[in-house]
Amino acid sequence: MYVNEIKESSDKIKIQGWVHDLRDLANIKFILLRDSTGVIQCAIKEDSKAFHNFGQVSFESVIEIEGEVTEAKVKSPEVSVKSCEIQVSNLRILNKAEPLPIPVLDKRINTGLSKRLDNRSLDIRKEKVKAIFQIQNVLMHAFREYFYKKEFIEIQPPGIIGTSTEGGTELFEAKYFEKNAYLAQSPQLYKQLCAISWERVVSTSPVWRAEKHNTTRHLNEARQMDIEVAFVDQFKVMKYLEDVMKYMIKQVMKDCKKQIDLLNLKLKIPKAKYLSYKETVQLLKSKGVPIEYGDDLEPEVEKKLCELYKDSLVFVHSWPNSLKPFYIWPLDKDTSAGFDMLYGGLELSSGGQRVHVPTVLIENLRSKGLDPENFSWYIDGFRYGAPVHAGWSIGLERLTMVVCELENIREACIFPRDRDRLTP
Ligand code: ATP
Ligand code: MG
Repeated sequence: MYVNEIKESSDKIKIQGWVHDLRDLANIKFILLRDSTGVIQCAIKEDSKAFHNFGQVSFESVIEIEGEVTEAKVKSPEVSVKSCEIQVSNLRILNKAEPLPIPVLDKRINTGLSKRLDNRSLDIRKEKVKAIFQIQNVLMHAFREYFYKKEFIEIQPPGIIGTSTEGGTELFEAKYFEKNAYLAQSPQLYKQLCAISWERVVSTSPVWRAEKHNTTRHLNEARQMDIEVAFVDQFKVMKYLEDVMKYMIKQVMKDCKKQIDLLNLKLKIPKAKYLSYKETVQLLKSKGVPIEYGDDLEPEVEKKLCELYKDSLVFVHSWPNSLKPFYIWPLDKDTSAGFDMLYGGLELSSGGQRVHVPTVLIENLRSKGLDPENFSWYIDGFRYGAPVHAGWSIGLERLTMVVCELENIREACIFPRDRDRLTP
C-alpha cells in the first residue's frame, strides 16, 4: 500500500517507508512516514507496544508500520494526507539509518551544492530536488511522445566512436583494443546517416565533452534530445523545435502542478521570435551591445537577447559559415543554414540544414582544417542517394535548468560529471 491510497475508510493497514520527521512528546510520539507518494502522520500512544521502540528510530530509517486509520487531530503542514493519520500498533525498523551527513528535511539548514552533490543519493530525497527530476521526467516523456506520434523512429546512436564529430580537442579518448577511440561528443553524424534513409529520426543520448571549462551551464557529460528530418530546410525544423518546446512545457504545466508550486515557478507557454543572425547583430548594436558581424554570441549577449524577447523562444538563424560546423549547409559564400535557439537567457539548442553533397562536405572539412580521409565512412554515406535534410539538438539539462529556473546546471543532473567530479 502507498501513502496516497490511505483513506479514513482504510481501517487496519500495513505500510513501509522512510522516517521523514519525528515528534517526541511526553505521552505521545509522532512519526511522519514518507514513501514515493507522500507523507502521513503516525501517532504512537503510551499504551502501544511501539511506544518504547520510538527511541530507536532515526531520520530516514526504513520502517514498517501497522495500525488503524483514524481522523487526524493535529495536522502537520508537511503531511500530504491531511484528513487521516495512523494509530500505530506495531513498528518495525527494517533498516536503521546512521546519522545523516546532510539533512533531508527542507526546513533544516541549507547545505552547499558541493556537499549536497557529495551526498546526492540522500539529496534527491528532498521534495524540492525530487520535483526537478519529476519535471525532467515529464519533459523527456513529452519529447518522445511528440515525435512518436509523428511517426519518427527513435534511434540509438553509438557512444564510442572512431572519428571526432567536429574535430578539435574536446573529446575524451578511450582505449579500444589496438585502436584509439573517443566518447561521442554528439550523435550528429549517425543521426544524419539514418535520416537520409528513414526520413524522420529522433534520439536521446548521452554526450561527452572534455572541455576544461567549469561553468554553471556546462557539464562534461550531458544528455541531448535530437531530431533529423529529410527533404526539409532549417525553417521547417525550427518549427518542429518551436512546437515541441511548447508541447513539453504544456505537459509540465498539466502534469507537474504540485512541483511547480513547490519550486515557485511561473511557467508560461512561450511565444517564438525568429531573427537572422544579421538582424540580431544589428538589433544588438542598436541597443549598445559591443558586437560585430562574425562574432559568436557570448553568454551575456544571449542573456540580453532573451531579455529583449521575454517569454519567447528566440531563434537566430542563417549564421555565418565561419561560426558553424562543417556539416552545416552553406547558403552562399558567407551565410550558412545553421541556427541557435535561446530561451531563458541561454542557448538551449543548435541545428540547421546539413550538407548532403559529398564534394561540399570535403570542401567544408578542408576549410575547417579537418582531414576528409578521417570522415570517409561518413562522406561515402551521401554518395548513394542522399536527400536534403536538417535537424537540431536540445540539451536536456539546459532545458531543465531553464524550466526550473536553476542557477547551476549541476542541479539539473542527478549525478553530474564536471571537471572535478567523477563520483558519486
Ligand atoms: P555552448 O556554445 O553553449 O557551449 P554548444 O554550441 O557547444 O554549446 P551544441 O554542440 O550546439 O553545444 O550542443 C547542442 C545543445 O546541447 C546545446 O545547445 C546545449 O543545450 C547542450 N549542450 C552542449 N554542450 C553542453 C555541455 N557541455 N553541458 C550541457 N549541455 C550542453
Ligand atoms: Mg550550439
